[in-house]
Amino acid sequence: ARAELKGLGLHPASLPLGVDIDAWLKDGKTGWDAFPNTGAGKVDAQTGPLAAALADRNVELETGAHVEYLEASSDVRTIAAVHYRQNGTLKKVTPKLVILSAGAVNSAVILLRSPSPDGKGLANRSDQVGRNFMNHNSSAMLAIDPRRRNTSVYQKTLMLNDYYLSDGKGGKPLGNVQLLGKIDGHILRANVRLAPQFALDFMAGHAVDWYLMCEDLPDPESRIMVDGKDIVMQWRRSNMQSLDGLTKVMRENFRACGYPIVLSRPFDKRTPSHQCGTVKMGDDPATSPLDPFCRSFDHRNLFVVDASFLPNSAAVNPALSIAAQALRVADHIRKTELVA
Ligand SMILES: Cc1cc2nc3c(=O)[nH]c(=O)nc-3n(C[C@H](O)[C@H](O)[C@H](O)COP(=O)(O)OP(=O)(O)OC[C@H]3O[C@@H](n4cnc5c(N)ncnc54)[C@H](O)[C@@H]3O)c2cc1C
Repeated sequence: ARAELKGLGLHPASLPLGVDIDAWLKDGKTGWDAFPNTGAGKVDAQTGPLAAALADRNVELETGAHVEYLEASSDVRTIAAVHYRQNGTLKKVTPKLVILSAGAVNSAVILLRSPSPDGKGLANRSDQVGRNFMNHNSSAMLAIDPRRRNTSVYQKTLMLNDYYLSDGKGGKPLGNVQLLGKIDGHILRANVRLAPQFALDFMAGHAVDWYLMCEDLPDPESRIMVDGKDIVMQWRRSNMQSLDGLTKVMRENFRACGYPIVLSRPFDKRTPSHQCGTVKMGDDPATSPLDPFCRSFDHRNLFVVDASFLPNSAAVNPALSIAAQALRVADHIRKTELVA
């Protein structure tokens, strides 16, 4: 695929990955990557920083603890307690610093469920908590050549940013293109119920599987809300014309590379895998819950450090940006809160 795309004058490059491919393949030749690797094959929060932190005797991990809400101090300027349920029992801790990292949906939910004098939840003077929910506009695209079998196991290795800043003709940005984990006939079955399994196996075995990803823009009416025990996701998609444009140009490119069949299907709200933006950072407490170091403007000892801080979604996988900001925030906390 790299040579074929280069032949069109495009610039495919290796995808930055936190994967130890030998460790990954040791447990089985698994091509699909969308699940945690229980070995050490995929660097995630557990295999990376958490394992290292737990080696410190000052660090303890509570497992099976579901945080329900935060409690503010009587002057509401700090967070006094974190209330969580563990094995059916409601418990609380009263830490000096609270770092909320429950992800863009659940961090917003925890803040919205936290009692506050104005009833809007905590850290929410700006009324932006839960708003600006973004998820990428993305599609799977299968480039199929019935004459060529795709024998790759770990396929997710290549990306293309030729259409990231413009459509290639001076028009608006489209997005990023990258290989997916290898799709097989059973994965196709989940979406195409009526086709016979042998046809799906053949199709998957002769396909190169791509992921097209475009920016979703912030919109205050695109929201995560709570309704009693329920979480309500009101996702208002934006910028779909970028996905349409990227789909069109990549379809043409793959046909020019010799794949006579190119199929695509957009991901919908059932796969909000890149959700972000619900507790955004910014300079102004009137419009953002967090400052640029992810500190709550309303409660000095509260930091929210996960995909919710992102003020926009860009058009790339978010994990490395979240990790980079987490390291930056950690350094800031060390300098401002942990000095002797
Ligand atoms: C299938 C899939 C594939 C992906 N592939 C990539 C990729 O290749 N590259 C990439 O950059 N990104 C990828 N992503 C996106 C990436 O995983 C997320 O952007 C990233 O993990 C978000 O980090 P986070 O810290 O915001 O939240 P999370 O990583 O989701 O962490 C939130 C944590 O909080 C816990 N939690 C939630 N609610 C509570 C609660 N009430 N009490 C206690 N704990 C709670 C959760 O269990 C979880 O451990 C993928 C996502 C999915 C779903």
